[in-house]
Amino acid sequence: MTITTDHPVSLWPAAHAADARRPRSLQTKIGASDTVCARRAGYLLHGRTPTDTGEKRKAILGTWLHEGLLTAARQEYGWIIERRVEDELLRGHIDAVQLDSGTAARLPKRLRPSLPADEITVEDVKTKSLRVWDNVLRRGATEAELRQAYLYADLLSTRGFADIKGQRQLARLGPLPVGKIRFRFLNRDSGDDHVQEIPYGADRGRGARWWVQQVRSAATPEELPRTLDGPGLSSICDNCPYRTACWGPIASGRCPQTILVRDDAERAAALAEYVEVSNEMKPLKDKLKLLRAKLDGTDAGAYGDNVLTWSGGNPTRTDDVDAMATLFRRAGLTVPMSPDVDEMKAQLKRAGIPVPVRLDHERRTSVSINVSVRRNKS
Ligand code: SF4
Repeated sequence: MTITTDHPVSLWPAAHAADARRPRSLQTKIGASDTVCARRAGYLLHGRTPTDTGEKRKAILGTWLHEGLLTAARQEYGWIIERRVEDELLRGHIDAVQLDSGTAARLPKRLRPSLPADEITVEDVKTKSLRVWDNVLRRGATEAELRQAYLYADLLSTRGFADIKGQRQLARLGPLPVGKIRFRFLNRDSGDDHVQEIPYGADRGRGARWWVQQVRSAATPEELPRTLDGPGLSSICDNCPYRTACWGPIASGRCPQTILVRDDAERAAALAEYVEVSNEMKPLKDKLKLLRAKLDGTDAGAYGDNVLTWSGGNPTRTDDVDAMATLFRRAGLTVPMSPDVDEMKAQLKRAGIPVPVRLDHERRTSVSINVSVRRNKS
């Protein structure tokens, strides 16, 4: 079959359509992976219709990578992957559960992992971009990622695997004492991986459960706090399906966060906090400047626990008008002549005539905030 169109067919519409049919898009219970933000979990629980579609290409690539990795782990190591855990309120699919030898022995041979764990481990695989990789190495899982993993571990240790088709044998194991959470981060640009392990105790699961209870007890989603800072400040908000419901339509030229300030009293409080935070940051900024100056010219390389690299400092590209004119002449083309602005300005100045200017509304100066002490309060 020949497809005839002016442009090659994009695969992204097909990818988005397939992604929209994924089981998580149809779930009615709150999913552990939806607990990234209290307000968002509230919208889901109250059955609100999503207001935004958002850019999903990166998320879809992450999902495909994730699936590929887990499938390989199942085929090669016999990992138990993508199994459902649930109760009356919550549902989720655990990326991988590593069973200890005692528990694995209770399964039919074909379901046993090739290498049992020292204790039952709930494993979560996260793909990350190079942009956030340093944060992953320094800080590990975020609060939302921890909450999701604790909820999975809590469901597995209180209920066990869900008793559904395709995992009945696992469900027969009953509640399983989870000993450890393992995050396996994968850098989707370089392929590097990083493992973070956290001992699991029931108190951690209870804390995550309490969070879910707070969300469930709200009468409306609007009662729930926005866990994140909003479009433009959080990439999760930028891609949230409830972005407009949460922050309202974006007014051109205005930050959506302006809705958080409703009157002059709140404006005064925000301004006072701005001054306070600026004052707190000043010594740190000065310290950073000093440290940067001390390191100037240091060779790139590993020093102690950190790796130093330099970027920038390269000449910027600019139009080579002479080379262009030469190319035009060689090709027998007329070299376009434009008024020499610099020369005209110089001539006007020499003649004492003011240089005419007009306002270019397409190009604007950046807006800076300036806050100073109010002197006369009347
Ligand atoms: S836009 Fe951000 S703060 Fe609002 S519901 Fe979505 S994730 Fe939460």
